Amino acid sequence: MGRGLRAAARAMLVSGRLPHTVIIEDPDAARGLELAEFLAKGALCRGEDPPCGACVSCRKAEKRCHSDLTYVSGGTKTKSMPVEKARELRAHAFIAPGEGNRKVYILSEAGCLSVPCQNVLLKILEEPPAFVLFILICASRTELLETVLSRGVLLSDFGEEAVDWELALEAAAAVFAPGELTLLKLFQEQGGTRDDLRALLEGMEMAFSRLLRCKNGVSDDFASRPEAAGILARATGRSLLSLMEACAGLVGAFSLNPNQTLLMTAACGKLRRAAGL
Ligand SMILES: [Zn+2]
Repeated sequence: MGRGLRAAARAMLVSGRLPHTVIIEDPDAARGLELAEFLAKGALCRGEDPPCGACVSCRKAEKRCHSDLTYVSGGTKTKSMPVEKARELRAHAFIAPGEGNRKVYILSEAGCLSVPCQNVLLKILEEPPAFVLFILICASRTELLETVLSRGVLLSDFGEEAVDWELALEAAAAVFAPGELTLLKLFQEQGGTRDDLRALLEGMEMAFSRLLRCKNGVSDDFASRPEAAGILARATGRSLLSLMEACAGLVGAFSLNPNQTLLMTAACGKLRRAAGL
């Protein structure tokens, strides 16, 4: 996992706008857990530059004995966590934190959760208590329900090779164009089928994620592309993060809603608002 994903996680921590749900996609479970623990430690950290590694919270998190950090497993390939356990977890999440102002749940093997379990958890992912951060780790996003996926910010290096970066950057730049028409036209031309549109939005999400890394000074060959430079000049770290979240949410919305034309128009507005325009 790239330093890039760690940088994206750090950007979330320093922006002060940590989402309530983060989904880590990594076929290497140990590496996924490492990123989850970095994020959890940062979310619970009481130091200056989270995760500082020096405060009481960080040290407890490192020893895995922080009372506001809960580890849960979604189960195994052949046996999901029982629905009853998912209900208990949901109830547990509503109890206020004991030490600081945040509670973190690391849910590994989230892809092993049965559909009923995911639906139980969805209720809390949709309306989480303000103090809760859920970190779901899965080998592949395809193991999760669209509705679950759409609630979280996805951290993934996976599938980057399949992205048409030129198109993704063109679309990302179109968000910042004067007026909505450029983006809407691009959606109409490129998003012929639902799958095309979904791939485009996923590509945009990954492009914004890479732009965010550039913004945070993590080297990426992206920074040398002219469209990227144009976006970087206009976007703040915060707006790039909002744009990643907006794209992730829209991927879910497009998968659920059959009225593509209506969604395209709504998507343009949503993306431009996320960009702060
Ligand atoms: Zn700390």
